[in-house]
Amino acid sequence: MSDVKLHNKFASIKAVGFDVDGTLYHSSEELQSAVGMDIIAEAARRLGKQPDDIVEEYLARREELRSNTMTLNSFGLPGEEIFQKIWDEIPIEKYVKRDAKLVTLMGGLRKQYRLFIISNGRGEQIERKFRHLGLRPAWFDPFISCYDHGWVKPEPAPFLAAIEALKLKPEEIVYVGDRTDVDVDAAKAVGMRTIFVGGEYAGADASCETVYDVGLMLE
Ligand SMILES: [Mg+2]
Repeated sequence: MSDVKLHNKFASIKAVGFDVDGTLYHSSEELQSAVGMDIIAEAARRLGKQPDDIVEEYLARREELRSNTMTLNSFGLPGEEIFQKIWDEIPIEKYVKRDAKLVTLMGGLRKQYRLFIISNGRGEQIERKFRHLGLRPAWFDPFISCYDHGWVKPEPAPFLAAIEALKLKPEEIVYVGDRTDVDVDAAKAVGMRTIFVGGEYAGADASCETVYDVGLMLE
């Protein structure tokens, strides 16, 4: 591993952006699966059926459509409405807990860099997660909640909006995320530097196991 190379890659960085789900907290999969089960239960209720009656068909369609909203729509249900209702009602504190280590990390980073967020979600829902984590949304500017703008990562729109708001060159910005296509490839496509969290991804400028390592990567 060449530390010099890493150092050079991030030497001109002035802003650090983060994905939220799966990047700032780890129980993302558990939470996604709880949301998935609740959505299926709600869909079954509205169709006058039991969850067991539709679960197989639902999961098969979702595998193909790759979106809960679109899968719900394919059953003739208001996908967006149900999806948002379930997210609003899920007991998020069960999955997203106060993280002192994360708060310390962000406290340190914000002294040196401008911080920002790009997350697929609505502002209200993301801010709820931040409250449970112990983070202040105000530390992150811009705080881009894609769904409020009709955007979905990996579309370039939220990344371009971040560049515009930061008034920086894309290569002065690093984006940190846990998904290769949705986060890393998308940020790279607009010229940002990238850090992949949760393993190794050759397509990123750097990879690390957890978000706690991000401070070290930038040094
Ligand atoms: Mg994520």
